[in-house]
Amino acid sequence: MPVCQHCGGTWSYKESLKQLLNLRRKMTCEHCNEQQYSTQRSYWVSQMAFLPAYFIIIPLVSIVFNVGFLIGFLAITPLLIFYTLISPKFLTLSNEEEPLW
Ligand SMILES: [Zn+2]
Repeated sequence: MPVCQHCGGTWSYKESLKQLLNLRRKMTCEHCNEQQYSTQRSYWVSQMAFLPAYFIIIPLVSIVFNVGFLIGFLAITPLLIFYTLISPKFLTLSNEEEPLW
């Protein structure tokens, strides 16, 4: 689980998930209320992984199984939910905002 770089406190699973669902890099530590940022690596892993899902997997499912985009979307929704639920495990924190590139 993510560890606050300011106070060293470990974030709970629930809190990490809540912060991730905010979809912002700036997060507030539940222990010390200081601003924390997801590191460049964990930001890409935890949030940007959704982009290939939408732009590659859905069209691929639609084409391969000859179904509409809506069906493709519905087909990968459990995958996205699963991914969201495990993403707090990949979250690492930093005191400063790192460039994304
Ligand atoms: Zn803290």
